[in-house]
Amino acid sequence: MSHPLASLVGPLRYACQRDFAHLSTVKDLRTVVERALAGASGVDVRALSQLRAALPHVDHPTPERRKAALRSVVGALKLSGLALPVELEQVARSAPAEGGSGGVPTVAAVRAVASVPAWKASEPVPPPCEPLVLTPPPAQPAPARAAPAAAKKAAAPKKRKRAPGSEESRSEAKLLSIAPRSGPLSIALKTLGKRLGPRLLATLNKKGLRRVGDILFLLPRCYEDRRQLMTIAELDPGQRGVTVGVVRSADYVAGRNGKRYFRAVVADRSGSIAATYFHAGPWLKGRFTVGKRLVLSGEVRASTSGREIAHPEIEPAEDLESSSIHFNRIVPIYPGLERGDQRSYRELASRVADSYAQHLEEPLPEALRQKLNLMTLPEALRHIHFPPDDADLERLDAHRSPSHLRLAFDELFFLQLGVGLKRQGVKTERGIAFDVSAPRMERARSALPFMLTGAQRRVIEEIAQDMARPEPMNRLVQGDVGSGKTAVALVSALLALQDGYQVAVMAPTEILAEQHERTFRRLLEPLGFRVGLISAAGTAKQKRELREAVARGDIRLAVGTHALIEGDVAFERLGFVVIDEQHRFGVLQRHSLMSKGLKPDVLVMTATPIPRTLAMTMYGDLDVSVIDELPPGRTPVTTRVFNEQQRARVYEGVAAEIAKGHQAYIVYPLVEESEKLDLEDATRGAEKVQLVFPQARVGLLHGRMKPEEKDAVMEDFRQKRIHILVCTTVVEVGVDVPNASVMLIEAAERFGLSQLHQLRGRVGRGAAVSHCYLVASLARSWESTERLAVMEHSNDGFVIAEKDLEIRGPGEFLGTRQSGLPELAVANLARDGDLLSLAQAEARRILERDPFLRAPEHQGLVKALEERWEGRLALAKVG
Ligand code: ADP
Ligand code: MG
Repeated sequence: MSHPLASLVGPLRYACQRDFAHLSTVKDLRTVVERALAGASGVDVRALSQLRAALPHVDHPTPERRKAALRSVVGALKLSGLALPVELEQVARSAPAEGGSGGVPTVAAVRAVASVPAWKASEPVPPPCEPLVLTPPPAQPAPARAAPAAAKKAAAPKKRKRAPGSEESRSEAKLLSIAPRSGPLSIALKTLGKRLGPRLLATLNKKGLRRVGDILFLLPRCYEDRRQLMTIAELDPGQRGVTVGVVRSADYVAGRNGKRYFRAVVADRSGSIAATYFHAGPWLKGRFTVGKRLVLSGEVRASTSGREIAHPEIEPAEDLESSSIHFNRIVPIYPGLERGDQRSYRELASRVADSYAQHLEEPLPEALRQKLNLMTLPEALRHIHFPPDDADLERLDAHRSPSHLRLAFDELFFLQLGVGLKRQGVKTERGIAFDVSAPRMERARSALPFMLTGAQRRVIEEIAQDMARPEPMNRLVQGDVGSGKTAVALVSALLALQDGYQVAVMAPTEILAEQHERTFRRLLEPLGFRVGLISAAGTAKQKRELREAVARGDIRLAVGTHALIEGDVAFERLGFVVIDEQHRFGVLQRHSLMSKGLKPDVLVMTATPIPRTLAMTMYGDLDVSVIDELPPGRTPVTTRVFNEQQRARVYEGVAAEIAKGHQAYIVYPLVEESEKLDLEDATRGAEKVQLVFPQARVGLLHGRMKPEEKDAVMEDFRQKRIHILVCTTVVEVGVDVPNASVMLIEAAERFGLSQLHQLRGRVGRGAAVSHCYLVASLARSWESTERLAVMEHSNDGFVIAEKDLEIRGPGEFLGTRQSGLPELAVANLARDGDLLSLAQAEARRILERDPFLRAPEHQGLVKALEERWEGRLALAKVG
């Protein structure tokens, strides 16, 4: 006989397929689940309870909610012992663990991600959001502060998962960077007196909250709607709710794992509900006196023994009448504080907002504020902590309320203003005005063996206009892999060469430097310009001679890695610098070249397209050109994701290409940043590949090889003496072998999106149809599944970069170390593009009228700029 829940497998498989791609077309799952439930006798009770809990949300209009519910249903099927098809196994694996809160498809379930420990269903579940320790009444000894490891694990570090890739970081305690350093807001918290309590004060100090201003600028993580009381019957599992009830019973009871927990039953006329607490001190019983009326607020859950509120915040019902800041309103929940500390912290925040927000100076000029219809800074802060009753809860929670937007604008505006000032500084320096007259331009273009694409032509035009001006050029050229950036660099370099200047070309790796040297030499030496490679390879004598040739001016164009700027390379007459694959150079390295007292024109090229919003921030001081067209004759790369079990098919694909006379890359990831492991992995990989393809010649390329060894291997590959090149990410950047038509990426789930796109760019460079196979572990996370799906669907570097930014957030996208980006507490670069454009336009408008910010109405700006971006701006503005 078939399994009673088997009928659910088909519909769910369809609904969950390809990361819920069909979800919007799936209707009325509720009926399907209900029907299955009705006939489900003899099924594991945990599975049933999880199914019942998920039921109300399986057709939820919000996709995230709905997905969470479906994951929960799949989890229940798994619990019930059904054998699931692969797709659903994946879903089950990514779904929260059995039973417990994980079964309830709520924000909490989404939040809990996969790390929720396997609690038994009959027990209440520790909150996934904050481990709870109630504040004891002062007379009692403090309860153990430490939550159990498991509860901690569930709580940290990702507290709340919203839409994919959204503001995880939001849940961390993030202080707006604009707390003033002087005035009333800078007074120490401890001067606020006894009511603060030494315990809370210590907690706050530990978090770096020491001054009154810090409280004002620590924004609520989310909000709780306590505007309306519900009857107990109205409390829905999966929702937060506030209710009033009379305590019927209260005691410590034994859980299934032998640990005791506290359980009280509270009732009103409509019904009753349990309130449960883990790790509660003996004082708790004193609060739940039988017969007493209490207000309870917290998250409602379904358990096998009925509904419960886990770790509710409680209050004597008499307080309802007084104008409490804790009830009858929308209540702020602050990041990084335990539930039990929320209440006393809320009181503190309320006091600070009431008495101190008004001392904050409004930094924006009145005219700008009026024009954009922004509320004042003090008003915005007051509303953020204690929103008015008619506020839109969803927008508050999403940090998109009018008061949040005011602060987000503020952050972006001052960022853009700082960057704008820097940009203006560059423009007033004196550099070289190159001759870019038509004949010279024509001569430069004709050095290329092919016709420029329209986009290349346009970008060269933009560069030439910059070069003709006396101030130093600072231009960023963005172009997808293979869009022909090198050709653009070559033509521009020729303009400088023809004018009698030297050119430096910097590449991020030796391999790429060598490749550039070859290209430039082939095209430039016939025109009489000597090209040299400044490299780590070669004898001391050779190196010295090369350097001397650069210093004498015999070498007109020098190619190299960072050795070019770090070493003792002196130029005779350097006028033009090309920096390839910019994101690999720290901003500081760019700076070190400029600080050699040179004012050359600088052309930065990047193949990691940077989303517009990020470019505006990162490179706000640069002008940006985009090559948005590929040279003719390219065929897009087809990309497919496979898992380990499908390896044979992948190898067949590789073999087929080699049989056609094409070549292949097989890429292994860096293992834990360790070059040694990386090497072992790739070496073992090469041996394995040789076994799989006994006829093929297999080569190995990795980061620990000497430059000449790498060079030899690359040359063999280029000359088709090697069929399959097994490598680490060494090939990521810029390598150009058009005959290579297939790339296999191992453990693809470990790579970032942009990196995958870069790697893939190594194939599809010739006319042959090319393939990219991504082999990923079945146990991969949802995030990586999503990432890999993006690769399957898009070949467009900009689309991929936007997605990457969305999934990873700006810090990681660029690598925080290099990005020089100030942290934004409210604004989100992945999402606030429009606001950023607005901020930039307004900042530029102000700087146009008053470049040095001397006008009296701009003094607030000057002060705020100094206060906010001191130190950080210095890094962001290096250029
Ligand atoms: P990128 O550095 O942007 O990844 P490259 O400059 O290496 O791209 O160019 C990729 C390949 O396309 C090179 O083999 C180059 O010679 C070729 N190429 C560049 N521009 C053109 C063009 N306009 N027409 C034909 N081929 C081109
Ligand atoms: Mg390139």
